[in-house]
Amino acid sequence: MSFFASPQKLIQSGLDLLFPPACVYCKAPNIWLCSDCYSKIPLIKSDVCYRCGTPSISVSCSQCKNNPLNYIDGIRSAAHFQDNPIRSAIHNLKYQGRKVIAETLAAILAEAYRFYKLKADVLIPVPLHRSRYKERGFNQSLLLAKELGRLVDRPVDAAMLYRIRDTGYQMEMKAHERHQNVADAFACRKPVTHQNILLIDDVCTTGATLDFCAMSLKMNGASAVWGLTLAKTH
Ligand SMILES: [Zn+2]
Ligand SMILES: [Zn+2]
Repeated sequence: MSFFASPQKLIQSGLDLLFPPACVYCKAPNIWLCSDCYSKIPLIKSDVCYRCGTPSISVSCSQCKNNPLNYIDGIRSAAHFQDNPIRSAIHNLKYQGRKVIAETLAAILAEAYRFYKLKADVLIPVPLHRSRYKERGFNQSLLLAKELGRLVDRPVDAAMLYRIRDTGYQMEMKAHERHQNVADAFACRKPVTHQNILLIDDVCTTGATLDFCAMSLKMNGASAVWGLTLAKTH
C-alpha cells in the first residue's frame, strides 16, 4: 500500500469531514450502508426467467409474454427494487450525487455477477444523453461499471455506446410507452471488437433500454450481449 493517499482519497476524506457519512436507510453514522441494512436488501436468489431475469418458476414469464425482448440474450438483477435499502442507496447516488455509494453498490453487483456465473469480455455502461450528463454531472452506470470492473477484473468501455436522443424520465411510463421511447435511442461510435458484452445499469423495469442497447451493439458486430442491473422492478 502506498504511503501517500491519492488526491481522490484526500478529497473524499475532506468531504467526509464536512458531510460525515450516514447510512442511506437508517441514518446510522460513519457508513453509507450499515451491515444491518445491507442484510435487509432482498437479493434475488430464486429461479429467474432465463431471458428477462424476473423471478419466475415457469419457462416463459408473463413479462416476456407481454413485453418480449428481441435483442438482448439475458438480463440479470441483483435485488428487488421495493422500498428497501437498495432503493434508497440508488436514489442517493443518482439524485443526491453521493458518488461514493457506487463503491458499496458495486460490491452487490459483483456478488450477482458471480452468483449468475456471468461471463464478459467487457463491461459497457448504459449511456446517458449528453444533456442529462450535463445536468447530473456524472453517469451512475459508468461509476458502477468502473467499480464492478475493478472487483471482477474486467475492462470497461464507456466510449463505444452513446444515446442519440434524450429519452427523459421513464419512471411514470407504461411498458409500451417505454418501448417506443427508447427504440433507436442508442448508437455505436465504432465497430464492436469485444464479442461478449455485459451492459451495466442501475435499475431494470421492462428491459427495453437494455434491449435497444443490445440491438445497436449487435448491429455493430457483438455476438452476445447480456445485462446486469442492481435492481429489478415488478
Ligand atoms: Zn442502516
Ligand atoms: Zn421473462
